[in-house]
Amino acid sequence: MKKLEYPKELQALADRWRGDKLCIACVPTMGYLHNGHVSLVKKARSKSDRLVVSIFVNPIQFGENEDLSVYPRDLENDFEILRNEGVDCVFVPSVKAMYPKPPLTFVDVKGLTDNLCGSSRENHFQGVTTVVAKLFNIIKPHIAYFGQKDYQQYIVIKRMVEDLNFDIDIRLGDIVRHQDGLAMSSRNTYLSKADRTRALALWRSLVWAREKVSSGERSVDAIRKGIVEILEASSVNVDYVELVDSVTLGKKKEISGTTLIALAAFVGNVRLIDNILVSAA
Ligand code: AMP
Repeated sequence: MKKLEYPKELQALADRWRGDKLCIACVPTMGYLHNGHVSLVKKARSKSDRLVVSIFVNPIQFGENEDLSVYPRDLENDFEILRNEGVDCVFVPSVKAMYPKPPLTFVDVKGLTDNLCGSSRENHFQGVTTVVAKLFNIIKPHIAYFGQKDYQQYIVIKRMVEDLNFDIDIRLGDIVRHQDGLAMSSRNTYLSKADRTRALALWRSLVWAREKVSSGERSVDAIRKGIVEILEASSVNVDYVELVDSVTLGKKKEISGTTLIALAAFVGNVRLIDNILVSAA
């Protein structure tokens, strides 16, 4: 497995692969890998000739009071995981290699970033789309994989790719959960034992919502209220609970078609996200 730090090196490698008519896939990550990442890597591996995984904690997608400086890292363990998955190249740029000059150019997907995480994390998606556009120009993939865990990110990137004519197929992987339902996340490592138990309320509230919808509930307000009650009963502080159209991310009044139920909440001072897609006839 090659480990590369500089964009130019990877661009040269990607050009060679493309010259040999090889199909390149990529999985962008911030590292501290878990089985959620691995599920994307396995999918990507099975659909490509060459697979690049990037590990980059991108400073421009973190707000001032967020966890950039303490974001968990364990590169040696990440390399071992990726080697075992048969990854061809891991791209681990330093901040200096990615941003040799303070960037003056940003990619901004409007509208789709107004609600959900976009409204509670100012400039977050601008940072994400800018770095993903850079990664696409560096890795030159034919296919890129993203997780449903960050569903809004997937929709935003798909739209960026469409609007800017990136010739890349954007694919979605399911959320991987621990046995007790908690969605895997690098940030779970911050949770104390008591908070780890409290965090189970996130998935419990989504399962409750799914059951309400399947037994005929169509009121967005009623579902929202029920989710908030379940979260608050476990002393989890709600950041947002939103029910939106799964394609446009527009707010819904009534549940119809495929609806994304998404939430963000603080468990202690750790901000976690989770979501579920529900269908109603
Ligand atoms: P991150 O390292 O958190 O930026 O995540 C990198 C990619 O892995 C993103 O596309 C995430 O949506 C995806 N991902 C994170 N957690 C999970 C999970 N529990 N299941 C599936 N994909 C995930």
